[in-house]
Amino acid sequence: MRQHVDYALARRAVLRDLRAGRLDREDVCDAHPELLRAGRHIGEPVARDCPVCAHRSLRLVSYVYGDALARANGRCITSPSELERLDTTHEEFTRYVVEVCVDCHWNHLQRHELHGRRHAG
Ligand SMILES: [Zn+2]
Repeated sequence: MRQHVDYALARRAVLRDLRAGRLDREDVCDAHPELLRAGRHIGEPVARDCPVCAHRSLRLVSYVYGDALARANGRCITSPSELERLDTTHEEFTRYVVEVCVDCHWNHLQRHELHGRRHAG
């Protein structure tokens, strides 16, 4: 299993606060236009309903960050093969996986993972 940090607890806490009225829907459904665009065009569909609007409209979008990535630093991953290529050509970087609803604009960081040759296998 790749080294990673899962934000499921933080996600549950946000949803709990939303349901309890401690957060407004606008506070949690504030996806950046770029993230929404990525979600619509290259996002990986998720086989469960959005926790806010209950529509089947969740997508996963990945971003990669790392000093070693140079020009690729901060870019959005458009395909599994692109991630594989970065994995074999860079020593270390971090992949952030964001869940976004292309309908109500709910978004939340799902997890981050360590990638690159140092973390292969
Ligand atoms: Zn939604």
